[in-house]
Amino acid sequence: MSAYQIVDHTYDVVVVGAGGAGLRATMGAAGAGLKTACVTKVFPTRSHTVAAQGGIAASLGNMGPDHWQWHMYDTVKGSDWLGDQDAIEYLCREAPAAVIELEHAGLPFSRTADGRIYQRAFGGMTQNMGEGPPAQRTCAAADRTGHAMLHTLYQQSLKYDADFFVEYFAIDLIMQDDVCRGVIALCLDDGSIHRFRAQAVVLATGGYGRIYFTATSAHTCTGDGNAMVLRAGLPLQDMEFVQFHPTGIYGAGVLITEGARGEGGYLTNSEGERFMERYAPHAKDLASRDVVSRAEAMEIREGRGVGEHKDHIFLHLDHIDPKILAERLPGITETAKTFAGVDLTRQPIPVAPTVHYSMGGIPTNYHGEAVTLKDGNPDAVVPGLFAVGEAACVSVHGANRLGSNSLIDLVVFGRAAGLRLAETLKTGIVQEELPKDSAELALTRLDKFRHAQGGSPTAEIRLDMQRTMQSDCAVFRTDRTLAEGVAKIDKVYDRMADVHVTDRSLIWNTDLIETLELDNLLAQAVVTMHCADNRKESRGAHMREDYPKRDDKNWMKHTIAWFDGWGGKGGGVKIDYRPVHEFTLTDDIQYIKPKARVY
Ligand SMILES: Cc1cc2nc3c(=O)[nH]c(=O)nc-3n(C[C@H](O)[C@H](O)[C@H](O)COP(=O)(O)OP(=O)(O)OC[C@H]3O[C@@H](n4cnc5c(N)ncnc54)[C@H](O)[C@@H]3O)c2cc1C
Repeated sequence: MSAYQIVDHTYDVVVVGAGGAGLRATMGAAGAGLKTACVTKVFPTRSHTVAAQGGIAASLGNMGPDHWQWHMYDTVKGSDWLGDQDAIEYLCREAPAAVIELEHAGLPFSRTADGRIYQRAFGGMTQNMGEGPPAQRTCAAADRTGHAMLHTLYQQSLKYDADFFVEYFAIDLIMQDDVCRGVIALCLDDGSIHRFRAQAVVLATGGYGRIYFTATSAHTCTGDGNAMVLRAGLPLQDMEFVQFHPTGIYGAGVLITEGARGEGGYLTNSEGERFMERYAPHAKDLASRDVVSRAEAMEIREGRGVGEHKDHIFLHLDHIDPKILAERLPGITETAKTFAGVDLTRQPIPVAPTVHYSMGGIPTNYHGEAVTLKDGNPDAVVPGLFAVGEAACVSVHGANRLGSNSLIDLVVFGRAAGLRLAETLKTGIVQEELPKDSAELALTRLDKFRHAQGGSPTAEIRLDMQRTMQSDCAVFRTDRTLAEGVAKIDKVYDRMADVHVTDRSLIWNTDLIETLELDNLLAQAVVTMHCADNRKESRGAHMREDYPKRDDKNWMKHTIAWFDGWGGKGGGVKIDYRPVHEFTLTDDIQYIKPKARVY
């Protein structure tokens, strides 16, 4: 590998990713005096967090009664009892302080008449442990909350003494004897290779929605950190749980926030019927996302879809006062016009279930430390490795995430990781030399793709993968579609051996980077499909028509999956399980026992 000149760096902490989670972790580590680098493939304020619309959940109680334990109850129920209750307790207890911290950092929240943070209703958020009416718990900056949050965090993070490596693409972790010792990255601007040695690496690389054809996620949401973890021989958790959002704009996939229904919007079928009343008599249009997406899919399947092909649904906001729309939902007013050609003050928006969020990811404890199954210990920490944000599976979202619970997850666990790093690391420690072959894994892979001159263009393989996932691993799943899906996705993976990359230079590298990203996506697509095939029950977002019930006796456990299909041979997925944490952090908070999940 001597052909590459390597630039070396030494830090206490390297954070990969500068979305909400990465920036909050960077601030925590740098603020504690640790020498910190933040490596990011896109400029920080272009991270997908910028696209979040509806808001961030915390039981501030500004609009009516609320309590963090009600938030905890809703989150456990939303997760369909697959979430770890110690982590959920931590999330909901810490949420109000995390939002106040953002307010003090300058986040321009929308306001109530008396000047407090405005909060709207969101799906699955209720009062009184699921017994009461909807809770207005989601704090919002109009419908541009993520934009406001990411800009606030980025500006704040500049106060600290952290070094930003912007437009550096992390290729792989440096592992030595099961310890993470750093990361290798490519500078996209000049093609130079950088080796970051660190006491700890924090992966905050976001979700992998782009394994699907229609997704609300940015083109950059390729789950690179997840794939690095797989290549390091470590497992991912609960990858079969992929969230479909009920209101992506039909055809375009662009999101219309759940906040639209929170402000009074509702769905209709071809008969003009408000069909959610049949599926969720209590919560109706504000049922949990998996429930609403399934209801839409059922209506379409039974011939009550709208449009020429009867393959989508209408979302109505045309009954809402245009002044309220302009004030509370200005962004989606514009989005509806641009992407659906619709004036939402007068016409309904055509929508369909669209891939939106990855519940699965890198298993961690509530400190953000990556864990793995080792010698019978299901909570064995991987020394030197952390994960936060959508890349991580803490797991607070379990089988289904509630809307507005991701933004709060980013700041609560980003902060928790910072605290843990400060507690466990000392700055200035002289780190051992890295092994001689520390860059080998990354550079061999880079080399392979730079010289890949097969017959299948990257974009063609990507389309093949996305169509396979979309048709065989969607809202409804059966043994037949999944068996077909497993066979097909393994074949698509094999096509990587025949990939053709057009940019062979490290400087003109667009197609090369897209190929590295595709390789990352494909590993996750294979794992997702195999895990979906493996779980023979329905829980949260994972709906098996042939196993329509939740089966707590056999399946209340996290799926753990390893992948060793590298080198053009697919199908190397190994599956095991970790128990769900059926305990809380503190003695005074009771474990919430499973029951039927109705809305
Ligand atoms: C359209 C949309 C709207 C949403 N609305 C809401 C909402 O209203 N409320 C809510 O709670 N949630 C919402 N979500 C979900 C939420 O926004 C995301 O889950 C969350 O923002 C993810 O944040 P993150 O910090 O984990 O990652 P991201 O914000 O996705 O950032 C990932 C970071 O990792 C970096 N990175 C990735 N790979 C590499 C690599 N190889 N090398 C270097 N850097 C890398 C990127 O540069 C980027 O900085 C929404 C999601 C979408 C798609």
